[in-house]
Amino acid sequence: ILLLGSLSAALIALQWSGPTFSEESLKGMRVLVTGASTGIGEQLAYLYARMGAQIVITARREHVLKEVVKKCLDLGAQKALYIAADMAETADADRVVEFAEEQLKGLDYIVLNHIGPSPYAMWDGDVDHIRWLMQVNFHSYVKMAVKALPALEKTNGSIMVVSSLLGKMCSPFALPYTATKFALNGFFGSLQHELAMKHSNVTVTVCTLGLIDTESAMEKIKGYIDMPAYPAHEAAYQIIKAGALRQSETFYPWYTFYYTLFRDWFPYYRDLVIRNSFIYQP
Ligand code: NDP
Repeated sequence: ILLLGSLSAALIALQWSGPTFSEESLKGMRVLVTGASTGIGEQLAYLYARMGAQIVITARREHVLKEVVKKCLDLGAQKALYIAADMAETADADRVVEFAEEQLKGLDYIVLNHIGPSPYAMWDGDVDHIRWLMQVNFHSYVKMAVKALPALEKTNGSIMVVSSLLGKMCSPFALPYTATKFALNGFFGSLQHELAMKHSNVTVTVCTLGLIDTESAMEKIKGYIDMPAYPAHEAAYQIIKAGALRQSETFYPWYTFYYTLFRDWFPYYRDLVIRNSFIYQP
């Protein structure tokens, strides 16, 4: 316990001694946010808007995006535009990045955040759904990152990848989703090494989130698990801050960091705790 306490204190001290975040630094920055019609993506758009950034947002539903753009302009965005796109369509990832680069005349940040709908239930063996979800939640992220890299290289830009504790720990009831998040962590974690070894100007921030109170997440877990959900706007702020500070990883809420840290220490008890935290009658 003493050792863990000292370790935590050292980690907290390390965080405090790092550079400080200034919202002012995001004024005029050119940002692309995906999955911004609802949930955390919508909150990301509003926070960037309040900080005076220039934003392009995307998702499938045009009428919702239009409303979010209107609110962004009211909140103080220097520029706010939308492009409707479906990340299940392979050409749309490139189309969105091209649009953002053209409209904003360059890019400073891209925040990859969208996810396709996926059932929260025991896996039914649907391999086609996994393939489809991989396209939406993983392949489109890779495509957008690759497309945006040359523009981000010119601006010392950053890619933020919104991942999950389920990208680091296995869990029942969300097998296809978990697979896509592990894929993201594997790809973007490895890309971080390659960019650093090539002395690239671009940084990648992988964001590990726990349960956040978005409408879709609350709807999914109902009847399966009873645990506190944290506010979407705070998760969004944490993502923006970590990206601006060029951190390689960020964790929100706090417990996700410790879950990840101690994940492999006591595998038997970890798995017992995971299985017993769900309500399930076979
Ligand atoms: P939401 O379900 O609220 O939002 C998903 C967004 O993705 C929407 O804007 C949706 O808009 C868009 N989207 C869905 N399908 C497609 C598609 N085919 N093409 C393009 N856009 C699409 O998700 P959250 O805000 O809850 O989650 C955001 C991120 O945070 C995700 O990466 C998620 O994995 C991560 N996260 C969330 C947690 C939580 O508890 N909420 C926990 C851990 C991680 P539209 O329908 O208009 O296309």
